[in-house]
Amino acid sequence: MDSTHPPSPRINWLNSSVLILTPIATAILVPLYWIETGFNWMDWTFFGIFMVFAGLGITGGYHRLWSHKAYDAHPLVKMFYAYWGACAGQNSILKWSADHRYHHKYVDDNEKDPYSAKRGFWYSHIGWIMVDNPKGENYFDNVKDLQKDKIVMLQDKYYLFMVLFTNFAVPFGLGFASYAITGTGGIWGTFILAGLLRFVLNHHFTFFINSACHFFGSQPYSNKDTSRDNFILALVTYGEGYHNFHHTFQADYRNGIRWYHFDPTKWVTKGLSYLGLTSNLKKVSDNMIQKQIMLHSVNKVKESFLKKNGDSSQLSQKVEALYSEFLDSLNAWMETSQNYFRSLKNKKLSDSEKEDYRSKIEDLKKAIEAKKSQLLDFFNNTNPALA
Ligand SMILES: [Zn+2]
Ligand SMILES: [Zn+2]
Repeated sequence: MDSTHPPSPRINWLNSSVLILTPIATAILVPLYWIETGFNWMDWTFFGIFMVFAGLGITGGYHRLWSHKAYDAHPLVKMFYAYWGACAGQNSILKWSADHRYHHKYVDDNEKDPYSAKRGFWYSHIGWIMVDNPKGENYFDNVKDLQKDKIVMLQDKYYLFMVLFTNFAVPFGLGFASYAITGTGGIWGTFILAGLLRFVLNHHFTFFINSACHFFGSQPYSNKDTSRDNFILALVTYGEGYHNFHHTFQADYRNGIRWYHFDPTKWVTKGLSYLGLTSNLKKVSDNMIQKQIMLHSVNKVKESFLKKNGDSSQLSQKVEALYSEFLDSLNAWMETSQNYFRSLKNKKLSDSEKEDYRSKIEDLKKAIEAKKSQLLDFFNNTNPALA
C-alpha cells in the first residue's frame, strides 16, 4: 500500500445513520400513518410549535446570541434556546459555535472552514457532518467565552440526553395527551410530525444556510467570499437567508435589515427586548451599510476593468488616483454623518445647526455621486491602448 497516499476521510457512522435514516423513516411513516390512522389538530399544532421553537433555538440562540454575541439575553431566554437548540439535533451550543466561528474566520478555506462551500454543495450541506474531521487540541480556543456560560456547559454535558428527551419522550408524551383529549388520530401522531418530520426539516433548513446561501442569490455587500442574499431561503431559514449581509456585518443582530425583509429571528429578538428579556442589540449604522454598498458596486466594476485591460501600470495609476478621490468623498460623507448623529444624541442642536448639517451631508452625497460617475465614465470610455 502506498503510504504517501492521503488517508480518505473516516465516516462518522452515528451522524451518517441519523442523517440517512431519519428522512427515510419520515418519508415512510408520515404518509402511512396519515392514511392508516390520521393526525389530529393537536398533532399539527405541536408540529408548528416545535418547528418554530427549534428553529429559533438555532437562529436566535446558537447563531446570533452565542456564536456572534449580537445581543445579550436573560437566563430564561438562554435556557429556552438551549432546550430547543438541543431539540434541533445539530450538536451542542459549544461545538456548533466553535465550527461556526471558524466558518466566518476562514470562510471558503477548504482546510480551515469546516463547511467550506468551495468543497461543493453537498459537502457544505451535509457531507461535512458525515465524516470525522480531526479537531486539534486547541479547537475550542475560539469559544473560551462560552465556556464561562453555565447554561452552555450544562447543555454540552447533557446534550445527548436532551436530544433523546426532547425528540422522543416529550413528543410521545404530548401525542399520548392529544389522543386522549381529542379522541382522534393515534398516540404516535405527535411523535411522527413534531418529532420526526420536524427534526428532518429543521436539519435541512439550517443546512441550506451553509450550502444554498453560499451558491444562489445576490451579493449586494461584498464578493470577498461566496455568501449570498436570498429572499426565498430567508423564508425557510427564519430570516437567515440574507447571508451576504451577515458575512459582511456578522455582529449585527439582524440579517434582513429592511422592515420588509423576512427575518422572524430579528423580530423575536427585538420583541423580547421590549420585555427586558434581551438587551444590547448590536446594529451596524445605516451609513456604514450604505457606504459598503457603494464601495462594493464600484469595486466590482474596477476589478473587472483591471482584469479586462491587463496590468498596465500607467492605467492602474490613473484608476487608483480616481478611486482614492472617490474613497475620500465617501469617507468625508461618512464622518460628517456620524458627527451629526453623535451631536444629535449628545447635545441639543439648534434648528439652524441641524439645517447646516443636513445641507452639508446632502452636498457630500452629491460629491460622492460625482466622483463615482467620473470613475465609471473613465472605465467605460478608456481605451487602454491610448491611456
Ligand atoms: Zn454567522
Ligand atoms: Zn456562511
